[in-house]
Amino acid sequence: MTNASPSLAPAAPSSAPSTPRPAPAPSPSPFQFFTVEVLRAERITPAMARIVLGGPDLARMASAGRDQRVKLFLPRPGQSEPVMPDMRAADWYGAWRALDPAVRGIMRTYTLRELRREPDELVIDFALHTDSGDASGPASRWAGAAAPGDRIRVLAPVEEENAGYDFRPPDGTDWILLTADESALPAVAGILGTLPPATPARIWIEVHDPADRQELPTQADAHITWLVRNASPTTPDAIRAAALPEGTPYAWVAGEAATVKAVRRHLVADRGFDRRAVKFSGYWRRGASEDNLMEAAENA
Ligand SMILES: Cc1cc2nc3c(=O)[nH]c(=O)nc-3n(C[C@H](O)[C@H](O)[C@H](O)COP(=O)(O)OP(=O)(O)OC[C@H]3O[C@@H](n4cnc5c(N)ncnc54)[C@H](O)[C@@H]3O)c2cc1C
Repeated sequence: MTNASPSLAPAAPSSAPSTPRPAPAPSPSPFQFFTVEVLRAERITPAMARIVLGGPDLARMASAGRDQRVKLFLPRPGQSEPVMPDMRAADWYGAWRALDPAVRGIMRTYTLRELRREPDELVIDFALHTDSGDASGPASRWAGAAAPGDRIRVLAPVEEENAGYDFRPPDGTDWILLTADESALPAVAGILGTLPPATPARIWIEVHDPADRQELPTQADAHITWLVRNASPTTPDAIRAAALPEGTPYAWVAGEAATVKAVRRHLVADRGFDRRAVKFSGYWRRGASEDNLMEAAENA
């Protein structure tokens, strides 16, 4: 087991270069802990809770949108706020891990859906796992019951340019392909909101129910296909059947790990996408909590 802090940085590229690269110059971490409290809890669709958070330091938080990831620390049942170590410690992760696992704040990864100004508000959209039955986890349960005044902690960037997002299409990209389920829908919304006008984009989004579709404002030339689980083809099958645009693609694929893997395999093996132009990220794995995934990564 290591004490390495869980990264807000993107995962290693899908095809790591075979020649070693010089290490990047060390830079001060552009992330900071924030104490925030729930201002409003809204149900934007049946399976999506929008939690609007406020706090004294939010003016310092920064984001350029896209799929900006943050770490949330949530209280356990019966706690009024998450139990945290001294978050100014250099090794905050080691200090958090040293706390009793039954008591310490629950750490989960989410997407910064929106950072509003005047007033400063942080918006996070939580999928409520309506199709998981009893499997829904503490974060989705917290969001489903969140009420004004509930306090949590957030580890979030204080600089717009930071390592906590993956969507980075290289120069020369002609069109964009995005796939998501409810967990990655906030990230797709963020990406679509920042695409330059008229960018060709093809998007597949899988939801539990037609009522979970959302308006996704964008200036891109976006064709969005909504897939309803158990009623539509799966995301990999829908893409297999699709005619894709000509030109150089960049794909961003996120959601349940097995689906992500199948989509990536199809794009690279069957469609001939350059594997470096397919950014893929398992946002969750069926049957495993984020704690299970973190432990597995640390023991690998
Ligand atoms: C970079 C990144 C950004 C993310 N952004 C968001 C976001 O903005 N909004 C969001 O809702 N999620 C997001 N996720 C996914 C979220 O972190 C996971 O779904 C997480 O497991 C939820 O924690 P939990 O405590 O509710 O469930 P856990 O305790 O982690 O898991 C409990 C059970 O629930 C199941 N489960 C977990 N997630 C889902 C799901 N989405 N649908 C159905 N069953 C599930 C697990 O398989 C497990 O059986 C993101 C993940 C990553 C890596």
